[in-house]
Amino acid sequence: MNVPRTVNGLKGLAFQALVKAENRNVLAFMFLAFSFLGGVSETWGQESRRASTFKRDHAWVDPLTIPPLLSGNFGELRGNHFHTGVDLKTEGREGLPVLAATDGRVARVKMSPWGYGNALYLEGPDGVTTVYAHLQRFAPNVQSWAVARTYEARSLGLDASPPSSAGLRFQAGDTLGWSGNSGGSGGPHLHFEIRSTSNQHPLNPLDGWLSKVDTRPPVIPALWVESATDWYRVSLPASDTLSLTSKVRFSVEGYDVLDGASNICGLRTLEAKVMEEGTKVLLTHRASWEELDFGVNKDMNAHAFYPVWSTVRDQVHRLHRFPTNRLGIYETPASAGWVELDAGQRAVLHIEATDAAGNRSSVAVPLVGSPPEMPSDPLCNDLDAQDHGEWSVEPELSGTHDFGEFGFAWRAGTFFERETVRVYVEPSGRKLRMLPTEVPYRKAIQVRWPVPSSAEMWEGAWSVLPGASLPADRWLSVQREDDGEVGDAVVAERKDGQWLVDLPRGGEWVMERDTVPPRVLPYHSGTPLVASGDAVWYVEDALAGIEDVELRIQGQWARAVWDPKRNMLTYEASDEIHPRGVPCPVSLTVTDEVGNTTTWERSLTWP
Ligand SMILES: [Zn+2]
Repeated sequence: MNVPRTVNGLKGLAFQALVKAENRNVLAFMFLAFSFLGGVSETWGQESRRASTFKRDHAWVDPLTIPPLLSGNFGELRGNHFHTGVDLKTEGREGLPVLAATDGRVARVKMSPWGYGNALYLEGPDGVTTVYAHLQRFAPNVQSWAVARTYEARSLGLDASPPSSAGLRFQAGDTLGWSGNSGGSGGPHLHFEIRSTSNQHPLNPLDGWLSKVDTRPPVIPALWVESATDWYRVSLPASDTLSLTSKVRFSVEGYDVLDGASNICGLRTLEAKVMEEGTKVLLTHRASWEELDFGVNKDMNAHAFYPVWSTVRDQVHRLHRFPTNRLGIYETPASAGWVELDAGQRAVLHIEATDAAGNRSSVAVPLVGSPPEMPSDPLCNDLDAQDHGEWSVEPELSGTHDFGEFGFAWRAGTFFERETVRVYVEPSGRKLRMLPTEVPYRKAIQVRWPVPSSAEMWEGAWSVLPGASLPADRWLSVQREDDGEVGDAVVAERKDGQWLVDLPRGGEWVMERDTVPPRVLPYHSGTPLVASGDAVWYVEDALAGIEDVELRIQGQWARAVWDPKRNMLTYEASDEIHPRGVPCPVSLTVTDEVGNTTTWERSLTWP
């Protein structure tokens, strides 16, 4: 499948000056590269040493009592980061006991509708912390400590470190809690991590920690070739010599498959070199997923081949590291990655991938330089005929640019390479399109968006009388999917007759006003009370999204567990702040991101 390159033909041209400056570095590390490529990756055995030393000196228990089947592993590409643990299957259900992998004390407890959900951090011996996420519930002593903290703080979520006086200690094999589907989990499973306690860097749990048999080697199905103006896919193994008519750089789709499950998992190492006539190294690259760092983990966006990753989510890895990419997984120097062959010059691209069990796969792609094709004009398209703003952004510099009444401000480090930003504004001023869309934005671009003087400027879109001025509040900049669903919505701050919005990515953004309050109703039937004594509501907000929830029982603040995946809000009867046998006033107030509010009020009688 070919992902069409859209409207950013200038992008690659902008790289070229950068590349020239780096050629010297490429020469300098050729010699170095040659030496490591001789002895490819026996590091796998060494990285397991920390685990084997630990297990020799301390008790270790796998966190589930069923055999480990993985739906995800360490280092696979996920959203905007590398996955920092393993996802252990829980037979498609919740409530499996989750065991302490080591002796230790509970160092941190988190409860959140997002991310890790209900998560427990167990600090064990030898500087090793284990993390258990998406839990349904904690062990009773942890659960009651955590719930008490939320009532103290009147906070729906929790992120707290229990003092040693709380006595939350476990031995390896004790039940810490029960598996669930809380937070950003897409189905019941246990997310399990091993971290170095001192810096909280996640370590690869398959480096000898979890006992997991894996006899299947990694899969390397496709190569992606990027030129200054285009990109295309080559199925592997390549049937022909690949003809290069211009300077290119490479990315490869690569992933692991494990015994017993069909899921796609991450690699342990990925290595590539381009060699001319078996001797001269034109490019060398090696990444190793041994340890990650949350501080820079989102630079994964610059490791992935973003045009493919951001659209079809294939695990496509760049075979070079941008100088601005701060990830610590690379064992070779940074470069923009360009390879250029003279006409008739021959070389071979070698790629090798390993998994954590030491299985390996490799491919070789023969390359030959060809005379350049007649360049097609990449800038000739409909959009370019329109009036637009256009300016360059250097990766290390902040700056501003005005286009008409619109203003744009970006911070240093917004892009990984020099980019040309282009902006098109609809004549009404209601809609703008910002390019590029096929590179990651590490930071949002702040847009100063002029507010039209009268509602007539934006005919018919809102229930505002002709000639009246636009209401000042509840505006958002909205990005929608092809099917019209809201992809992203950014609240617009009104200041000095303008809106300020932080746009986190390129694409089309439209100003919309949200006047619809959230929906709040009993989840199942006429009453939120269910047989267990829990009270369950359906809460949903169409555009801006829910910002705050306040539940009161007999006027008292009550903890509400919010599950945004199911639009479900639950008061758990085990919190025991409700009376029994007498009618009691209950109110639930839900507020969205722009301040629309709905209050549900009724008297409930708990049995
Ligand atoms: Zn996970």
